[in-house]
Amino acid sequence: MSQSAAVLSRHQKAALMAPALQPLGWQLIELDNFDTDSLGSFAGERPRFMSPYECALRKAALAAELSGLDVGIGSEGSFAAGPYGLGTYNLELICCVHISQGWAVTGRFYGPAQAQQWQIQTLSQLDAALASVPAGQHLLLQQGGYLQKALSTEKCRTLASERLALGELQLSYDLRAHLSPERQQHIALAAQNLAERLQSRCPACATPGFWPDIAIAGLPCESCGAPTPLTAQKQACCARCQHQQYYPVPAQYAQSQYCPECNP
Ligand SMILES: [Zn+2]
Ligand SMILES: [Zn+2]
Repeated sequence: MSQSAAVLSRHQKAALMAPALQPLGWQLIELDNFDTDSLGSFAGERPRFMSPYECALRKAALAAELSGLDVGIGSEGSFAAGPYGLGTYNLELICCVHISQGWAVTGRFYGPAQAQQWQIQTLSQLDAALASVPAGQHLLLQQGGYLQKALSTEKCRTLASERLALGELQLSYDLRAHLSPERQQHIALAAQNLAERLQSRCPACATPGFWPDIAIAGLPCESCGAPTPLTAQKQACCARCQHQQYYPVPAQYAQSQYCPECNP
């Protein structure tokens, strides 16, 4: 069954998603005539007023609306401190809405990302920073109110060498999808996850996106059997008919260090 889907993106994301979605018979049509930066932009010129999930859902609904197609896809990436505040993590969400069938399914990738930032005062600091940038990763250069985006390392070297005469400057990764090879890989993985979720249908009503996203705490303590805060099972709940199914986790017991009775 062939299915046309509109992707709202100005950064060629449809090409990154196509390998995962084409085996399902989906033809992706990229809409690049909408300024997605009005929904909030990476370099922070415009504030974000929606969560990443709301943003992806809004883009998906807009894609369907602007194209007149039944299926719209929107994606949103965000970066934040990782678990325990360590490192930078990238969350990629790809939301797919089906207007006439009335469902939305969101694929995701979450994992560590290289997202460096440097304060540069000398040419040797500049050389050291640029030497660590992976091939194809573009950069932002900031100096007070001055901002240049989408710089290749070569362009960045030339421009930053000139600007250093005026004082300290700041370099960081330009994380927009078309300028960051690592993010492109993460988007492809999120699309893969979306494809898996689309093929996972509710056993009761066949709505796509039936997925064990809900973690239920209470894994019993290995010493005393009391419920701990660790995940005891996963639950899938259909967004349309509320049908529920439970899935076991690999662990049967929690170590007593997690037990509120043994180790309060
Ligand atoms: Zn259902
Ligand atoms: Zn215990």
